[in-house]
Amino acid sequence: MIRTAGVLLGLTLVAGCSASSPSGAPSPSTSPSSSLSTSPPGSPAGTPAPQRVSPGDLRVDTAVAAVEHLADRVGPRPGTTPAYFRAAGWVERELEALGWQVERQRFRTPAGYSWVAQVAAGPSVNVVASRGDVRPGEPWLAVGAHLDTVPRSPGAEDNASGVGVLLAVAEAVAARQTRLPVVLVAFGSEEPRGPTDDDHHYGSRAYVDALAGPERRSLAGMVSLDRVGVGDVLPVGSPTTPSRLRAELLAAARAAGVATVAETGQRSSDHWSFVRAGLPGVRLGSTPYAGYHDVSDVPAGVDRDQLTRTGRTLLAWLR
Ligand SMILES: [Zn+2]
Repeated sequence: MIRTAGVLLGLTLVAGCSASSPSGAPSPSTSPSSSLSTSPPGSPAGTPAPQRVSPGDLRVDTAVAAVEHLADRVGPRPGTTPAYFRAAGWVERELEALGWQVERQRFRTPAGYSWVAQVAAGPSVNVVASRGDVRPGEPWLAVGAHLDTVPRSPGAEDNASGVGVLLAVAEAVAARQTRLPVVLVAFGSEEPRGPTDDDHHYGSRAYVDALAGPERRSLAGMVSLDRVGVGDVLPVGSPTTPSRLRAELLAAARAAGVATVAETGQRSSDHWSFVRAGLPGVRLGSTPYAGYHDVSDVPAGVDRDQLTRTGRTLLAWLR
């Protein structure tokens, strides 16, 4: 694993840590990631600044391959199961191979009834990736996608599609500039384990709970990618009232040439954990489909054009 500054991660991953404050400087024992500091191909010597990312940098094949791997090779992966940990290990390796600094954030998930079956309590993990450039108190962006499924579903659309776009975005921005530092998170245990608002979104709530005050106050926006491979317009959803962040995403979609539908009252994904805590959050995705939470949620139901629309919108927002 590449270990560099990891300022945000250092704060994020030690739940309850409040005493020590990072200096913002890399620790002497670490080395920078070479893949993040190289010039883009063709840059003249002496101009090390990477190019700004653009929607055209998205490689949708990366997202499609992730959908196939997670749904076909791993299969159903409730957040506390061995299959979930296999999926988390795979995502971790993919992100590290792209040059991201990756950490696991552990949290507990209670037992409960998840859609069609009882599931056991146990530990789960969020897979958290950064480029080591987040500084306490300075603006940053987060993009997340839940990696778990309900018990019987291979979860191609819900939500290998979101994780696939997350990985394609990780690839596109790995050696390029974004307008602000960005953190990517594959969340565990998003799916429900009971009927109330406190019976789901365990991974994202653990992530928000562990954010220190300066990170919390400076988070400029969080986008949840959840069911982003069905339909031909892109849903952009706010939990409560129309928000500045939703307007940003709608503008980014326009800039990327993507048709959208704006939703209000959208609380059914990890962005809600952020908004509940007073932070800006929006969901991309949610178009209804026949295979929802079913054995029939397989890769054939996921449309690469909709994955492309989602990824291009996100890159336009990060640009
Ligand atoms: Zn979902």
